[in-house]
Amino acid sequence: MPTVNHNQGMLPQNTNLPQPRPFIDQNQTVPPQNQTFLSQNNQRQPVNNQQPYLSQVPPKFSQPQPKLLQNNNPIPQGSYPQPTQQQFNQNYTSPPSFNVAAQPQYKANLHSNRYPQAPQQQNNLYQQPQQNLSSPQPFYQQQNSVTQSGFDRLWGHDHFDLLQNPNVLPQEKVPASKIYLGNEMLDAANCSPEVFRCTMTKIPESNSLLQKSRLPLGILIHPFKDLTHLPVIQCNVIVRCRACRTYINPFVFFVDTKRWKCNLCYRINELPEEFQFDPVSKTYGDPSRRPEIKSSTIEYIAPAEYMLRPPQPAVYLFLFDISRLAIESGYLQSVCSVLLEELKNLPGDARTQVGIIAYDSALHFFALGEGLSQPHEMTVIEIDDIFLPCPDNLLVNLKDRVELLTDLLNQLPTRFNNSYDNNSALGAALQAAHKMMAPTGGRVTVFQASLPNVGPGALQPREDPSQRASSEVAHLNPANDFYKRLALECSGQQVAVDLFIVNSQYVDIATISGISRFSGGCIHHFPLFKASRVLQNERFERCFRRYLTRKIGFEAVMRIRCTRGLSIHTFHGNFFVRSTDLLSLPNVNPDAGFGMQVSIDESLSDIQSVCFQAALLYTSSKGERRIRVHTLCLPICATLPDVINSADQQCIVGLLAKMAVDRSMQSSLSDAREAFINVAIDILSSYKLSLNMASGTSSLLAPHCLKLLPLYISALLKYTSFRTGTSTRLDDRVKSMIDMKTKPLNHLIQLIYPDLYPVHNLEEQRVVLNAEEDPVPQPPHLQLTARCLDSKGAFLMDTGDHMILLVCPGVSPAFLNEALGVRDYVSISDDMYELPILDNLHNQRLHQFINYLNDEKPFVATLQIIRDNSPNRIEFFEKLIEDRVENALSYHEFMQHLKTQVK
Ligand SMILES: [Zn+2]
Repeated sequence: MPTVNHNQGMLPQNTNLPQPRPFIDQNQTVPPQNQTFLSQNNQRQPVNNQQPYLSQVPPKFSQPQPKLLQNNNPIPQGSYPQPTQQQFNQNYTSPPSFNVAAQPQYKANLHSNRYPQAPQQQNNLYQQPQQNLSSPQPFYQQQNSVTQSGFDRLWGHDHFDLLQNPNVLPQEKVPASKIYLGNEMLDAANCSPEVFRCTMTKIPESNSLLQKSRLPLGILIHPFKDLTHLPVIQCNVIVRCRACRTYINPFVFFVDTKRWKCNLCYRINELPEEFQFDPVSKTYGDPSRRPEIKSSTIEYIAPAEYMLRPPQPAVYLFLFDISRLAIESGYLQSVCSVLLEELKNLPGDARTQVGIIAYDSALHFFALGEGLSQPHEMTVIEIDDIFLPCPDNLLVNLKDRVELLTDLLNQLPTRFNNSYDNNSALGAALQAAHKMMAPTGGRVTVFQASLPNVGPGALQPREDPSQRASSEVAHLNPANDFYKRLALECSGQQVAVDLFIVNSQYVDIATISGISRFSGGCIHHFPLFKASRVLQNERFERCFRRYLTRKIGFEAVMRIRCTRGLSIHTFHGNFFVRSTDLLSLPNVNPDAGFGMQVSIDESLSDIQSVCFQAALLYTSSKGERRIRVHTLCLPICATLPDVINSADQQCIVGLLAKMAVDRSMQSSLSDAREAFINVAIDILSSYKLSLNMASGTSSLLAPHCLKLLPLYISALLKYTSFRTGTSTRLDDRVKSMIDMKTKPLNHLIQLIYPDLYPVHNLEEQRVVLNAEEDPVPQPPHLQLTARCLDSKGAFLMDTGDHMILLVCPGVSPAFLNEALGVRDYVSISDDMYELPILDNLHNQRLHQFINYLNDEKPFVATLQIIRDNSPNRIEFFEKLIEDRVENALSYHEFMQHLKTQVK
């Protein structure tokens, strides 16, 4: 039995333990931007590009996979395709192993009671599936397992064998890792993980401890998320630290009733008299009753000192590509009809202004002046040095000129039908937009269908379609800096540019997206768009409707502060970094996410917790200056097991995806892919070392908090952004990389690993009550593998803005008749995009479940109901990413590979 060390788990700070493979090498001289994502490890050579990952794995159809099984039970252990390990040994050019000299030394140190040794019989228990609800164990084993897991928890060794347990996904939604500050009130006050999240729920007390864990440190933030409950306060004095300007928050220390100590810089500040007044109860008393102290998310209506100029009005300018390809796509009809319906719902007040420009080889301006009976079109053919033909009536007051605008929107869809102009002068149109908007600031919305090929910023096609499946991808970076430079000029004038790309050919998103990336804009992409395609058009219209009517913040800046000893160094998202910690966001929208990498510069061992605070200063569409403040507090920890067990796997994946996009652009796609794999290897190796496990065990252990990390990483390797071996259009790849950088975490996870549910027996599932007290069935989450399907079932896949309902041939007639309202299986047509509303339980439960999923989304997802033998089934099956697709490993093969690499 182990000897219990009362110094359990305490790793001395100045330990001399060698680090076999630095995840982040603190001695590197490269700037921080390059340090974090997987240090350029000299001990490991890059994989030979001539022998790409998996080059020799048999092609798709040579190894038949079970398509549909008759039940939902997991395959018994050992029934995986067996040749994989052999294939790897034979065919995979594995990177050199770790520094073998360093490793035993580390272990020797660990043996000298740095950690308590785990009970000896634990190895046997790794063989047993743990927490695997669907495969019951004999009673004696269960009992043993319970005792063991108790021990494991005690020793901080609560782990999961990835090789033995293919069922790694919990049946319920993966919860955000909880933060425990050791104080219930503070825990209750902490920021919602939907808004602010760190890759760990405890911060290591030193950089060297962080290095040992190999975990990336960073935060993800969704700062302008739509919130159902947001305390808004108006006061004369906003209480902030005099030294570092931190906003008072739930985690400050009250020295006495008159003074507070800043939790970021530790300065002691005076409390203003007014602060003791509680605006909610309208009484004086304890300052901790204040909303600023009770809630980590709060919004202030700012007094005049927070304004450099009077708050701007809402100004919206729409730019329409009317090149031949644009006309043929039919997008103008959809855009104009949605815009007509939603003009009255655009966020704004009596000052709101709207304007429209169309462009092909020329720019077409529309004067909407007072007294005109209809819009007056002015065409400017000279596009190299753009001027505005009549500066006054191009942006007009929405309320005053709504009739002229309506008239114009009715005419536009057919106005250019007879134009066969193949050119698109996007650059000139953007320059004109900048000129029009510069005096006020505002939002420019661009609809682009073809490659901008004339005038300023003209581009050449760069994509080589024959290279779409190759392991290296060229042209991920912009072809020129025209769009970025113009974006910075726009940003300086508080103008953001958003792109809706409705292309049928290559439009060079890598280059033109610069206009949105650096101006705080957003980018939507509808590849191969045709308005005549019902489903695609529906998705486009829903997305655009949400875009038009969602909240908007103008002339915004966001500043992120953190406790002394930490620093924030690499920012991800669409913005311009104006100074070290200040992001310039001419517009901010509720669907935008951001990420930041964090480093530990000083020892944190003297403090209990650290905080991050994000303050977003913006002008509301009603012309109010507001400040939304979010504060996240995290405790400090001092031991390696503590650090590893505090990992937040989803947040880690969100941050890694952003870092990998940077790596793909700065280095190469294969480098980014290798980095992903190394992260998994490093983290699992670090965990194994922390457990003091003998080498050569047959298990691949992960702590429970990281058991999904390899699954998500294998999903990322197959995702549009990072996949190789599958034909991927360059624009699609670049757009999906932009998504990795800008989507809020929950949406990002759903993109790479969609949710899958059985829905053929919803009436038998347990229900929860929603806000309206309606029952909502709760089917289990299924893993993305054909092994989880059943020929008698129906399965709903939720990819975020689209859902696919796959109906298998053996599904019960009752489900077909009652839930779907069809006579029989073959009556499900290939264009079934709606679920009828019927008066029976099957149908009600299915509606309740789909509505429940939609409640979490920015807009209602489109739905496609497909038969298992429909040509559309490919869209469903290509997302079963745990199975082998084309040249990519199955999840199990990936685990086998990790096993060979984890030392
Ligand atoms: Zn301070």
